Amino acid sequence: MKRSRGHGERSPVIAKVAVLAPVRGEFDYHIPQRLPTPAPGMRVRVPFGKGTRIGLVLSIASDSDVEPDRLKEIVDVLDDEPLLPLDSLELIHFAAGYYHHPIGEVVGAVLPALLRRGRPARAHGATRWCLSEDGIAAAADALARAPQQAALVSALRSRPQGLSRDQLTVVSHHWRRAMRALERRGFVVECADRGSAPPPRPDGELHVTLDEEQRNIIEAIDRRERRFEPILLDGVTGSGKTEVYLALIEDVISRGHQALVLIPEIGLTPQMVARFEQRLGVPMSVLHSGLTDRERLDAWLAARDGAVSVVIGTRSAVFVPLPRPGLFVVDEEHDLSYKQQEGFRYSARDLAVIRARRADVPVILGSATPSLESLHNVSLGRYQHLRLTRRAGGAQAPSVSIVDVRAKSFVDGLSGSLLGEIDAALSREEQIVVFLNRRGFAPVLICHACGWVADCARCDAHMVYHQSRQRLCCHHCGAEVPRASRCPECAASSPAPLGVGTQRVAEALERHFPRARIVRVDRDSTRRKGVLEQVLEDVQAGRVDILVGTQMLAKGHHFPRVTLVSIIDADGGLFGADFRASERLAQLIVQVAGRAGRGERAGRVMIQTHHPDHPLLRTLLADGYHEFARAALAEREAAGLPPSASLALVRAQGAAPGPGMEFLTQAREAATALDEPRVSVLGPVAAPMERRAGRYRAQLLVESSHRPRLHRFLGRWLPVVESLKSARKVRWSIDVDPQDML
Ligand code: ADP
Ligand code: ZN
Ligand code: ZN
Repeated sequence: MKRSRGHGERSPVIAKVAVLAPVRGEFDYHIPQRLPTPAPGMRVRVPFGKGTRIGLVLSIASDSDVEPDRLKEIVDVLDDEPLLPLDSLELIHFAAGYYHHPIGEVVGAVLPALLRRGRPARAHGATRWCLSEDGIAAAADALARAPQQAALVSALRSRPQGLSRDQLTVVSHHWRRAMRALERRGFVVECADRGSAPPPRPDGELHVTLDEEQRNIIEAIDRRERRFEPILLDGVTGSGKTEVYLALIEDVISRGHQALVLIPEIGLTPQMVARFEQRLGVPMSVLHSGLTDRERLDAWLAARDGAVSVVIGTRSAVFVPLPRPGLFVVDEEHDLSYKQQEGFRYSARDLAVIRARRADVPVILGSATPSLESLHNVSLGRYQHLRLTRRAGGAQAPSVSIVDVRAKSFVDGLSGSLLGEIDAALSREEQIVVFLNRRGFAPVLICHACGWVADCARCDAHMVYHQSRQRLCCHHCGAEVPRASRCPECAASSPAPLGVGTQRVAEALERHFPRARIVRVDRDSTRRKGVLEQVLEDVQAGRVDILVGTQMLAKGHHFPRVTLVSIIDADGGLFGADFRASERLAQLIVQVAGRAGRGERAGRVMIQTHHPDHPLLRTLLADGYHEFARAALAEREAAGLPPSASLALVRAQGAAPGPGMEFLTQAREAATALDEPRVSVLGPVAAPMERRAGRYRAQLLVESSHRPRLHRFLGRWLPVVESLKSARKVRWSIDVDPQDML
């Protein structure tokens, strides 16, 4: 029903708003006459539920399906100009549609926290004040009767590059009033500065001459005139992928465009950033999870306003608006951290490709161990596959051997042959990496008298023993309890640690090699800010002999002196519950092996296992990652699993096992009623770890060999699922292209 227009009345204007709340859909609001009409991309404050919320205007319309008298009014418009350009709004629409996720939460993932909370879109650290021409020329006694202003002027005189808020606060706590007065006199001006230090000059010495394989990639992009072109850059660790990125980025910068480089979550930011800064010598925005909200907003604004040519960031940086995109790079594209695992479960890698396509610019996915998804896209002809087969700079590929640990003396996870090799490497003054994907001292604490095992009270999981603190910790819910000295079941003996974690291996190595400098790297040891950076620096400088750590060590670091790498336990990955377990293990082995022998001396890799004849290990070691991937892709196709099929996973959890199962059973019935061809629904089943943090979890799998049908089905089905009565008793979510089935 449309409202009739009275005399002089503005035509009813409706804003379609993504409200920052976990609710599906857009909401219509009336724009009252007292407010300016907001443009798409501006924030508004709107009534929602019992209070108000911030929302982002998606579009303006002249009418609404909502009855006029039920339509609420916008309370306030928060921005003078759009926060986001139109292509960002399109990306938001696409992502909300593809991941079937509430659009308000998608907006929430795109906007930095301070903007979500309604703060102004102004860089802060950024603003600086300088003396104007008049200010510089002003006579010394011009401010004789305004001592505060005079103090500011003399401080500014000594700093031609200007002073920031923080620096001014040091001069005087009451600088703001004085500064306003000086502005009125025309003595000071705000001088633009984006908070980044003036970039170091590019160092010509550092430039390398690309070899033929590297040039092939540049030429492939040139041939397509830098239009949309997805390239899987497949090169072993140390083959010079980063050099290719740098060359392409230099070209992008010289054309006045911007490059976005995505890197995995852990660790490698400082090294990578330093290398980029040194080489490119241009201002960059760096976006990762270690930033304060303020730093993040400043970096985001600098990218959005085009003040920087290069943006480097982890997962969520894929949403940073760029006015002049010229290139997207996803380094280590197989890395799991690109998939958000909770809330809005997007894949930054996949969205980077979508953005590149919309912007019509190249996108490079780099990896030594490409994901099966990307290799599948290559076989479909969607991606170009370009290889770097040699290690740059003449470094040799490491030799890999399997250590059969069955029926051998095997104490604290260390076989005799591994200890021998470590000893030999130490005597040659070479570095060693010992890799184990399990932190803590031991994964299990067991009573040898009665078999009691320390389990988490709230999860279907064992508690991990942390010896340094004498505590048992659950790595799933964070619960901690002190270690009991007597078995709580039989009281006959003291439960003992079973199995090994990084702490136990590090301790054992200290006993075996008392003079070696041993450092442990895992989430426990690097919790404090700056610790990881320090360790990496120590390794570079040769102040460390043995590094013991988790997968944090597997990612991208360049340790030229490491010649021996060991994987303590390959068995977990051979028999994982997830169908991707073997892919992950193969990637891990190749990545970890990539840490060995990157300098002049050849490297050696030792993999300890109880299953030396496992076909995966055999194929991987005899024929390499690509043969492994070919076999794995064939297996997946035969089993109707991704990447041959598309999946979506509905997860539900409740305070008891019943409600989740009931909800998913009804959801399944609703799916059957829709009868979508080529879409099948499997389950519901209990999650592999059913109980976690006291919640019972179940899941329902939706599978289709035809992706568009899967999406059409989800579009029809989810509104029905949402309206189920049983949905109110559980927390549920949808995960499109799930990477982790737990
Ligand atoms: P990746 O990113 O594939 O691990 P990098 O780009 O970091 O490999 O290269 C590994 C090492 O080889 C670096 O020290 C790099 O400077 C050097 N390098 C790469 N390409 C060349 C080249 N064409 N000539 C000389 N050195 C190179
Ligand atoms: Zn006991
Ligand atoms: Zn727990």
